[in-house]
Amino acid sequence: MDKVLVIGGGQAAGWACKTLRAEGYDGAITVVAEEAHDFYERPPLSKDALTADAPLPRLFSPEDMAALQLRWKRPARAVAIDRASRQVTLADGERLSYERLLVATGARARLPVADWAQLDRVVTLRSWDDAQVLRRRLATARRVAVIGGGWIGLEVASSARALGLEVAVFERAPGLCGRSVGPEVAEAIAELHRENGVALHLDCGDLHLAQTPSAIHVSAGGNSESFDLVVVGTGVQINLELARDAGLDTDQGVLVDEAGRTSDPHIFAAGDVAQHPQLGICLQSWAFAQNQATVAARALLGQAVGYREPAWLWSDQCGRNIQILGTPVANGHCVVRRETASAVFFYLDADNRLAQMVAFDQPRAIKLGKRWINTGLALDTSLLANPDFNLMQLR
Ligand SMILES: Cc1cc2nc3c(=O)[nH]c(=O)nc-3n(C[C@H](O)[C@H](O)[C@H](O)COP(=O)(O)OP(=O)(O)OC[C@H]3O[C@@H](n4cnc5c(N)ncnc54)[C@H](O)[C@@H]3O)c2cc1C
Repeated sequence: MDKVLVIGGGQAAGWACKTLRAEGYDGAITVVAEEAHDFYERPPLSKDALTADAPLPRLFSPEDMAALQLRWKRPARAVAIDRASRQVTLADGERLSYERLLVATGARARLPVADWAQLDRVVTLRSWDDAQVLRRRLATARRVAVIGGGWIGLEVASSARALGLEVAVFERAPGLCGRSVGPEVAEAIAELHRENGVALHLDCGDLHLAQTPSAIHVSAGGNSESFDLVVVGTGVQINLELARDAGLDTDQGVLVDEAGRTSDPHIFAAGDVAQHPQLGICLQSWAFAQNQATVAARALLGQAVGYREPAWLWSDQCGRNIQILGTPVANGHCVVRRETASAVFFYLDADNRLAQMVAFDQPRAIKLGKRWINTGLALDTSLLANPDFNLMQLR
């Protein structure tokens, strides 16, 4: 095998290319990427990139990039995969052949109302270029509305407050981050933002936006407020059209096995676009994009590998580090451990096994949680809740 083609130039694509070389593959690697930049990671885009003049958060140094010896097609868009001839067509009509293909097309920001795209005071955040636009817009704004109380919306709210702006968050659901955490955590996050001076409009119902030359007006439930800028963070659209149109099995994302193989043995998928069998979702996390892509690249080289890690992601907001491990469980119960400057929320199943934990400023607890999830340890809830008890003793 001496011809690998990668579609997508994000974190998953970058780690796959790096892994292919690290594992000794010395054939051609062609990368088709819509964005003109070298591989970079997105977490800083809603954080430092909005509050400071941060450089492109490159995945690899220019020297390491050169050592990968990649053939770039960028900016270029792949528009079709012909599985029979094993070729990918680009928007300009060029056709590239492959022996193994990795689909790492990620996701794009989604607007809940298509017409909002016509309003120039409405912005979304997915790419480095989006972050540059948002940073410039925040510099001249006084009042900002964030639509969507998920991780990215809340990080933008936190960054805008750090810049001294007035911020309101509008969320349809009764709680924040409702798709990924339970009500106890949602309330703790809401408290953080209220204390940080953010006006939270939960359960806000349908929103109506109207733009005038000097402002944008957000109407909810009969009330209208004016802002300089609206940032929409209402989730993403997974970029699965290429794979779906090529007849690969898809659901929310491209269905893959533990090794990142799709329903075509010559095609693999990694990162946000890949729907992992155990997780059952497109995880959309930095750690998954890196580690699952690493596994997929090794599988592409024929190695017997599998990705079997609990979901893990983090968020930085209002000066706090929040780490989320595992996935919510139906009929679970919550145990809270509060220490002076930190807190951990444990979500346990009926047998007191850990399903999910959310740690505020407690990164070391996450390492223990990984072990408990992997071993299926039944936990003593009174010890978990006791801040004087050393969790390291639970084995
Ligand atoms: C603002 C922001 C903040 C985040 N913060 C955190 C965080 O704090 N913690 C955390 O765990 N995760 C965070 N994430 C999530 C994490 O960054 C993503 O899970 C990760 O970037 C996914 O990587 P990926 O390579 O799968 O997809 P992407 O990074 O989306 O890369 C896909 C690339 O493929 C390109 N592409 C798509 N279609 C085509 C095509 N047809 N042809 C050519 N190129 C194509 C896209 O333009 C894009 O460059 C954040 C994400 C964002 C957007």
